[in-house]
Amino acid sequence: MVHAVDRPQIELPERIYRLDELGFNLWWSWHPEAGWLYRTLDPALWDTVEWNPVLFLRYVDPNRLQRAAEDPQYCETYDRVMGQYDALTDDATTTSWVGKNEPSLISRPVAYFSAEFGLHPALPIYSGGLGILAGDHIKTASDLGLPLFAVSLLYRQGYLLQQLDSVGWQQDVTANLEPWAEPTTLLLGQDGKPIIVEVPFDDPANPVKLAVWCVQVGRVPLFLLDADVEGNPDWTRTISSRLYGGDREHRLRQEIILGIGGVRALRAIGLNPTYWHANEGHAAFALLERVREFVASAGLGFDDAAEWVRQSSVFTSHTPVPAGHDVFPSDLMDRYFWHYWAQLGISRDEFLALGQHGSNEGFNMTALAMRLSAQRNGVSQKHGEVTRHMWHDLWPGVSESRAPITSITNGVHLPTWISPDHQELYDKYLPANWHERQEDPEVWSAINAIPDRELWQLHLHTKGQLLAYMREYTRRRWSSGEFDPGRVVASGTLLEREALTIGFARRFATYKRATLIFNDIDRLARILNNPMKPVQIIFAGKAHPADDGGKSLIQEIYWKARDPRFNGRIAFAENYDMAIAAKLYAGVDVWLNNPRAPLEASGTSGMKAAANGAPNLSILDGWWIEGWDGKNGNGWGIHPFVGDEQTQNHEEAQAIYDLIENDIVPRFYDNRDADNVPTDWVRTMKAAISTNAPAFSAQRMVIDYIRKLYLPASEGAERVAEKAVR
Ligand SMILES: *Cc1c(COP(=O)(O)O)cnc(C)c1O
Repeated sequence: MVHAVDRPQIELPERIYRLDELGFNLWWSWHPEAGWLYRTLDPALWDTVEWNPVLFLRYVDPNRLQRAAEDPQYCETYDRVMGQYDALTDDATTTSWVGKNEPSLISRPVAYFSAEFGLHPALPIYSGGLGILAGDHIKTASDLGLPLFAVSLLYRQGYLLQQLDSVGWQQDVTANLEPWAEPTTLLLGQDGKPIIVEVPFDDPANPVKLAVWCVQVGRVPLFLLDADVEGNPDWTRTISSRLYGGDREHRLRQEIILGIGGVRALRAIGLNPTYWHANEGHAAFALLERVREFVASAGLGFDDAAEWVRQSSVFTSHTPVPAGHDVFPSDLMDRYFWHYWAQLGISRDEFLALGQHGSNEGFNMTALAMRLSAQRNGVSQKHGEVTRHMWHDLWPGVSESRAPITSITNGVHLPTWISPDHQELYDKYLPANWHERQEDPEVWSAINAIPDRELWQLHLHTKGQLLAYMREYTRRRWSSGEFDPGRVVASGTLLEREALTIGFARRFATYKRATLIFNDIDRLARILNNPMKPVQIIFAGKAHPADDGGKSLIQEIYWKARDPRFNGRIAFAENYDMAIAAKLYAGVDVWLNNPRAPLEASGTSGMKAAANGAPNLSILDGWWIEGWDGKNGNGWGIHPFVGDEQTQNHEEAQAIYDLIENDIVPRFYDNRDADNVPTDWVRTMKAAISTNAPAFSAQRMVIDYIRKLYLPASEGAERVAEKAVR
C-alpha cells in the first residue's frame, strides 16, 4: 500500500516542517497543545478555516511560520507535541491498555463499519449521534491501542448546512467536501495508480468502481469509499455524494458500497481483520460479502460459511424506533442481488428469508445483521431490553429475556468533548495519569478538591465563550444583510451570562419532543421572565431534509424565540454541528432532554454536558436511567408518565416546570457566598462530573466492548481459522 499526497506541496520552515504531517492525523484534534501549535500562529484564520490545519497551512502568512520557527517557546511546545505524537506509533504492544490487559488482541485487528463518522467539524461525514459515537469509538480504540480498521463512505456533499429563512423554515444548504482541503489521502497501489475496488449493482458486467481514501485517526486508519471515479457513468458518481440523501434505491446502493465495497477495499489494501463489527444495520452487507468469500475460497456450503461469519462478528443496534431500521422492498433486492444468490449457494427465497422479520414486508437489514453475528448488543441497559423485545422472535422457542442480545451503554470520548479550558483545570487537580484512567471513578473523586470558586469562574468563562460565539455568528449574518432585527434577537444576542441557562440541542426527530417545554406557555413565560431569577433557553438542531414535521418544530421554536413576551430569553442557534455542540456542552448550566420514553436508545449529548459540569434535567430513558443517582444530586430525573400522548406531554412538562421552579432556580440563585459563588449549585456540578464522566466515558465503553464482545468474537474467529486450515 502506498499513500499519495494528491495536493500542492506546502513550504514550511525546516525547524517545524512536521506541522503538515501532524495536520493529517486527527490525533491533533484531541490534544489541545497540538491544536495550539496552529491556533497561536493566526487565531482569526484558525477560526475562519474551522480549525482545519490542512487548509490553515495553505493560507497562513509564511512570515508567521518563520517567526514561530525562531521562537524558543513555540519550538519547545512543538518538540513536546511531536514527541507524544511519535510515541503513538511506537510499539503499542507493551505500553497501551490493550497491550497490558488484553495482549491477545494485539495481533487480531477488528474491522469497524459505520455509515458515518463524526470526528471533526471540518470533516462533514456525519449527521448526528450515531456518527459521533462511531468517531468516539475509534478515537478511543486509538487511545487504548486496540488494533482497528474503520470503513465508511466519502460524502462529497457531507450532510447539510442549516440556515433558516426569514419565516424560520430550514433551508438545506449543500456542504462541499473537497478532498484536497481535508486530511484525506488517496490510496495508491504498488503500480502507483489509485486502488480501485469494483462492486456489482444490477448488472455485474458493469460494476461500479470505487476509489479509497484514508483519514488517519491516531493509530487507527479510516478508509472512505468514493464512487466519484473516472470511468463510472454519471449517475453512479454521485452515489456516495450525500449522507442520507435520495430515495430507497439510493440508500440501498450506498449500503452495497459500504458493506460489499468495504470488505473488498480492505482486501485490496492487503488487510485481514480477524473479527468484524457492524455499527447499525447499514453495514450488514459486509457480513454477506464475507459469507460469499468463504463459499468461494473455502468451498463451504452456505450454512457453514454463515456460521463462520457469525462466530467472528459483532453487531450493534442503535434504535428502538421501528422506522429507524432499514427495510428494502423485495423487488429492489431482486434487482441488485439476483446474481449474488448463486455465489452464496442459496435460492432467492432463502436469500430473502435472511432479511425477514415476522410477517413484515421487505428485507430488513437489522434482521440480516442479527442472523449473521453471534455477538449482538443494544446501547443502554434499557435499550438492551427493548431490543430483546423487538427481535426475540428471530429465535423461536427462546423467551424474550433470554434472547441473545446484550447491552453496552454508550460513552463519549472525553478528550474530544471536555473543553480545553476544563481539561486544563482537571489536569491541575486530577491524578496526573487521568487520561489513561478515564473510566476509573477513583480518579474523578478528586473533582471535589477543586475550589468552588475556581470551577465556577471557569464555568462563567466558558459560558461567556458560548455567548460570544453565538454573537459573532449573528454579527456575520446581520452584516451580510440576511437578518432582520427580530432574528438578531432570536439568535441569542440578548442572552446574559449571569442568567440560568438551559441547553437543548439535538436532531429534530419527533420523539425527542423539542417543543415540550412550550406545553404550558404561561407557566414557561413566568419562569423565564422572573425579574430577579431569570431563566433562558438555547435550542439548536437540524431536521432531516425530508422531515417536514421536524422542520415545523424548528419553525415553532424560531417564532417563540422572536416572540416579545419571552423577553429575548429563548434563542435558536443555527447549524448544529460538532463545533457549536462543543461550545454548548461547556457553556450552559443545565442540559435538558425530554424524549418520549422508551424511544431514546441511549442519548450521548447529556454525557458530554455532564463531563463539563452541566447537570442533566432529563426524562428517565436511555443512559439517564443509569446515570442519575437519585436524590444524591448529580442532576434531575423525571419518571415517564404512562398514558395517552397528550396527557403524557402535559404531565411530563409540568414535572419539568416543578423541578425548575422548586429546585433548579433556587439552587442556582440562592446560597451565594461572599464571592457570589452558588455553593449548592457547584456541588451539583461536581457530582455531575465525578459520577457521569467515568461511567459514560468512551474508554469505559470500548473496554466493555473488548471484554464482552470483542474477545468472544476474536476467539470465535480463531476457531474458524483452525477449521479452515484443517
Ligand atoms: C453528541 C451529539 C449528538 C447526539 O446527541 P443525542 O443526545 O444522542 O441526541 C448529535 N449531534 C452532535 C453534534 C453531537 O455532538
